[in-house]
Amino acid sequence: MADGNYKHHLNKKALNDSNYGKCMYCESKVTHIDFGDVEHIKPKAAGLFPELEFAWENLGFACAVCNTTKSNKYFNEAPFVNPYEEDPAEHLYVFGALLFTKNGSERGEITIKEIGLNRSGLIEQRAAKIRAIATAVDACHRIKSPHLRKAALDALMDEGGPDKEFSAVVAAQLRASGVDADDPAVAA
Ligand SMILES: [Zn+2]
Repeated sequence: MADGNYKHHLNKKALNDSNYGKCMYCESKVTHIDFGDVEHIKPKAAGLFPELEFAWENLGFACAVCNTTKSNKYFNEAPFVNPYEEDPAEHLYVFGALLFTKNGSERGEITIKEIGLNRSGLIEQRAAKIRAIATAVDACHRIKSPHLRKAALDALMDEGGPDKEFSAVVAAQLRASGVDADDPAVAA
């Protein structure tokens, strides 16, 4: 922790870099529209976890909307899913433009509901991404040359990489459309 100050620009940059400039909760790319917020996973305010104000493991990088919506909420019996420490796929899954709770996970449900991960603005953006991916998949399959088709599918697979916006949504869409790393046309 540089200077014991979580707002120090090096801390924000490190957090930003560690999540590719994406919000840890909604996977929006933050840094091209906003500086992003340093998120206290366990809230520092309201006398809750003041001792964790500067604790590196309690800091994340979030968009202003998620950070504001989450505010000082914290549920000891069902903490928010922390993508820095665990695989969100154990608690949530993507279907189309929506997130759903997996296996009845209370933590997944609280994370979706209390941070607003199915808010209308996100659904619109995810849906636009899904339509773009579907169009691109069709275009790839229409390429006659197997070599060029594979190159195009490879490039499309990259869109589901961890550095990309809404990568969980894109990866799910690619799998649903039959394009994934196990596809011989891609893996070869
Ligand atoms: Zn967000």
